[in-house]
Amino acid sequence: MANVFDQLVNDFMAKVIAKNPSEVEFHQAVHEVVETLIPYIEENPQYKEAKILERLVEPERVILFRVPWLDDKGEVQINKGYRIEMNSAIGPYKGGLRFHPTVNLGILKFLAFEQVLKNSLTTLPMGGGKGGSDFDPKGKSDNEVMKFCQSFMTELSKHIGPNTDVPAGDIGVGGREIGFLFGQYKRIRNEFTGVLTGKGLGWGGSLIRPEATGYGATYFAEEMLKTRGDSLKGKTVAISGSGNVAQYACEKVTQMGGKVVTLSDSSGFIYDPNGIDAEKLQYVMWLKNVKRGRISEYAKKFDCEYHEGLRPWGVKCDVAMPNATQNEVNEDEAKTLVANGCFVVSEGANMPSTPEAIAVYQEARMLYGPGKAANAGGVAVSGLEMSQNSLRLSWTREEVDARLLQIMKDIHANCVKYGKREDGTIDYVTGANIGGFVKVADSMLAQGLV
Ligand code: NDP
Repeated sequence: MANVFDQLVNDFMAKVIAKNPSEVEFHQAVHEVVETLIPYIEENPQYKEAKILERLVEPERVILFRVPWLDDKGEVQINKGYRIEMNSAIGPYKGGLRFHPTVNLGILKFLAFEQVLKNSLTTLPMGGGKGGSDFDPKGKSDNEVMKFCQSFMTELSKHIGPNTDVPAGDIGVGGREIGFLFGQYKRIRNEFTGVLTGKGLGWGGSLIRPEATGYGATYFAEEMLKTRGDSLKGKTVAISGSGNVAQYACEKVTQMGGKVVTLSDSSGFIYDPNGIDAEKLQYVMWLKNVKRGRISEYAKKFDCEYHEGLRPWGVKCDVAMPNATQNEVNEDEAKTLVANGCFVVSEGANMPSTPEAIAVYQEARMLYGPGKAANAGGVAVSGLEMSQNSLRLSWTREEVDARLLQIMKDIHANCVKYGKREDGTIDYVTGANIGGFVKVADSMLAQGLV
């Protein structure tokens, strides 16, 4: 039977690759999903007849545009802008904007595709989308970032809206960028609406939104550990990245009794065997969010090791949280993690593990929470921000955090429902893919051929 499924997966992928050549990250994301979905679809022919899978991999709409802006020297700069409106079967398109020089169509399509299933898993009514630009905010002045954001939003504003498409942040898009983008939308449309999430607290933002992805990935790790009667208390945790997701994962792990020993950026990683406690994390937040400096400066300040050009996966740990970017854990690194006793991987980033690394986790029966489940807390609280905007009310920190925790528990339960293996362990990849798929697929069936 396995061979029949392999053949179906290969045939499906051959068509996806032929239709979307050179979009390698998109192929990778689709392959990981169809591998687990095709056996399920074979048992549920209504999805097969309606070609739901073939429709899921085709965006409803792709918007590609020019973003001209003037730098501080008065020189004209031109970037590419994108918005992928992937699937609106269960709600308005929802997903972040990424500003990074590596951004291209294939990367955004992989992210948008993952987002559809992730948003469905949250139990909230949100479709999937993703967007961004090859603009690099690193090294730019605040003025340049503002000019870029204003030009980007001048075009994007024609395509989004609180009931149509609601972008948020991602790599390179934090509170500063969301502010500039929101200001320009309001100016062009003369409307104060919840068109973006991740807004400032004084102008429609939600408490806990900045924390949500990192907190959620930590809650998910705790839920996975509970299935083995264990918890994060006393665990040594390796985290990559030092941006939004990494910072708040570090905060929550520490609050729950774990010890975070690494953080990284694209230049290298720091190893602090004494643990990155609340006070040291305050410094990281200042360093990264205000000074916009490099993580190597942490090692100088707190007199610990810094490893230039390396990732933190060679460090001994119980739990790994890849929180930086796609494909940042490869097969050899996964093997090293297992050899060093690591038995939990909770992904704050999107698709941070290569397919070969995932095979290592699965073979070792690790507690492996894939990004679309483990990092769904961010978009879940974005959904709660949309609800608060519609109600014109703000919920308390405790209320939003309690809802986030409950959503992460529900996502975990959904993964268990669809991912239980015969030996009693849980395949969270299968669980998340099927759990996310069913609601979207049934909604697509109900809405006819659209
Ligand atoms: P930030 O821009 O705040 O931080 C990104 C971090 O990752 C930085 O430390 C950055 O280092 C590092 N990084 C980025 N690109 C690379 C690279 N190519 N190689 C090595 N390190 C890199 O982004 P976020 O924290 O928001 O996002 C991190 C991940 O989490 C992404 O995969 C994102 O898609 C995912 N995610 C984010 C959500 C959110 O709510 N923000 C929601 C769900 C998922 P440097 O400063 O050197 O670039």
